[in-house]
Amino acid sequence: MRDCLFCKIAKGEIPSEKVYEDDKVYAFYDINPEAPTHFLVIPKEHIESANDLNDNNIDIVSHIFKVINKLVVELKIADAGYRIINNCGEDGGQTVKHLHFHVIGGRSLKWPPG
Ligand code: 5GP
Ligand code: ZN
Repeated sequence: MRDCLFCKIAKGEIPSEKVYEDDKVYAFYDINPEAPTHFLVIPKEHIESANDLNDNNIDIVSHIFKVINKLVVELKIADAGYRIINNCGEDGGQTVKHLHFHVIGGRSLKWPPG
């Protein structure tokens, strides 16, 4: 989608620090990390938020979780644990309107969030 920050990042039009890429997803480090390890996994297809998942595009979510499963091992946070977060919409605190999953780890995280 034109003028979408994460579409531009996925296409390499805006630079980012890549963690992983395949034909369906792109993973990159968050510019403002909340923990020693903080990366985002996004579909290359523009999907605005979790509200826009449906029978035609829901398979991307299982693919994203498979990718996360592999990356947390590579980044050595799998055993200690980590958090996967999707912020959806205004009240959910979603600031970028392209579906993304935060993966945050490398320190003990507090719960509940604010
Ligand atoms: P949200 O609040 O929408 O769930 O998360 C958006 C995330 O994207 C934030 O954690 C923010 O730091 C990150 N972010 C925003 N702009 C950029 C950018 O240009 N590059 C990278 N790498 N991360 C970004
Ligand atoms: Zn987009």
